[in-house]
Formats: sequence, C-alpha cells, structure tokens
Amino acid sequence: MLTDYHLHLRVDEIGATPADYFTAANAERYRELATARGIAELGVSEHIYRFTQALDIWQHPFWREYAHDDIDEYCEFVREHTDLRLGIEADFIPGAEDRIANLLDACDFDYVVGSVHFLRDHALDMNDYSVWGSGRSAKDIWRAYFLALGEAARSGMFDILAHPDLVKVWGSQRPLPEGDLRRYYELALDGIAESGVAIEVSTAGLRKHVQEIYPAPAFLEMCVEAGAPVALSSDAHRPEDVGADYERALELLDRVGVSELCVFDRRERRLEPIGAGVV
Ligand SMILES: [Zn+2]
Ligand SMILES: [Zn+2]
Repeated sequence: MLTDYHLHLRVDEIGATPADYFTAANAERYRELATARGIAELGVSEHIYRFTQALDIWQHPFWREYAHDDIDEYCEFVREHTDLRLGIEADFIPGAEDRIANLLDACDFDYVVGSVHFLRDHALDMNDYSVWGSGRSAKDIWRAYFLALGEAARSGMFDILAHPDLVKVWGSQRPLPEGDLRRYYELALDGIAESGVAIEVSTAGLRKHVQEIYPAPAFLEMCVEAGAPVALSSDAHRPEDVGADYERALELLDRVGVSELCVFDRRERRLEPIGAGVV
C-alpha cells in the first residue's frame, strides 16, 4: 500500500478557480497517474484559506485576498464526483483553536493535514509577508517554528503534521542556524509524542530551493522513536507531481525502519504495510 494524501487539485495562484480545477476529469488525471505509479490510496487536501468560511478564523490580508470559495461545495464535489478521500490542509493559528475546530468539525473529512505556514503575521514560505525580512534571527525563527509545530500537534485538531520542517524551505537562500539542528526538533517532540499525531513524509521539499525531503532524516528518526506513525505524501499541485520522487521517500523510510503507513477513513486511522510499490 502506498498513499498520497497531501494533494491540491489546483495550483496556488489566485485565478485557479473551482470551476476550472474541481472537476471529475481533473481528479481522474490524478488518479490515473497515481495508479501508474502504484499508489492506491489518494486524498485531496485543499488549503483552508481558499474558503470564505476561513475568514471566521483569521483575518490576515493574505487570507482575505484568497478566500473566495465555499467549503461545503468543495466537500460535496470531492464526495460526489471523485473517488478521492476528503481532506483539508488547515493552518495552525495560535489563539484561534476553537474557531478552527468548529470549522473542521462541521465537515466530514477523512483527515485533516495541519500546517504551520505563518509565525504570527509573517510567512515562512512566501515572499509576501515574509518572516525572513522581519529582523528576527534564524535561531529565533527556527525556535518559534518548532514551538508552534509542537503546539499544533498538541492542539489535537490535526491527523497529520504537514511538511514538518518547512522552516528549511529556502535552503541556503535564507540564514540557517549553525550546528546540530536537533536542538530545534526537540522543541516539537513532546507535543508530537503526547498527541500521537502522524508525521508527514513529503517529497515536496525536493521541488523547493532546499531540495530535501521533509522532514530531515534526524527529525524523522526522533519522531519515529517517539512513536509517531508516518503519512506519505507529495503535496502535488498538478497531476504530474503525484507520487513524485517516492523512490527517495521509500529509501528514507526503509533507512529509519518505518514499514507501515497511515490510512484514514472519516478521521479513523489504521496502519497498512508499505506495499512492494511499483514506483
Ligand atoms: Zn503547506
Ligand atoms: Zn499543501
């Protein structure tokens, strides 16, 4: 069994409308490529901030610019017109836990992917609103990121922690703290261990400046030792990227002794052995 649970049916551009991308034919293109790559279990997890309902959670100007779609229409489309599992990628916004939980509980998701894309009002992985130009040191940003990740885990709202060391996304284009990075990973570890949340192994980092899988092998090892199960995803925003570079992800999983992957159904989790997988 192989999975790809962190999929977007559209690119992140604001002009990518549901009418163009939330179609049975588009979902079928993802399914066909997945099947060709030996991936049986697929789910879609659109960004929460594309939905108008997300403005009840947070009023960041980036969210206000992007929130145009209706979340109920999205859920209905996925359930009625595709054979994909229904997920969502929801940001962790400290202080808004109740409002996030209310929105997530109103829909019958198979799973919720939780992400830390922002530190307060500053973005980690975008040029707009960037945290990297805010005068904070790399040490401070890394510390704040992993503390937020641990808090996201502990909130209990998420089934999967997405791209767990996203803070490295820019690679050498942004300052990096010196020395052993495990002192930062450590900050998230208690939350991960106590919550039992699944850790996403994502090949998306290979398509970013950093050109590495999320998370770093040392962080993955620490999570696995702490008992965290693994969810495998590509974070594809177009059909061609479904299961991208899975051979490298499988090699990493094998190296750290992971032999099972999480499968979700209406927010119930079970573990399935990693298939021989034609990739
Ligand atoms: Zn993300
Ligand atoms: Zn994503």
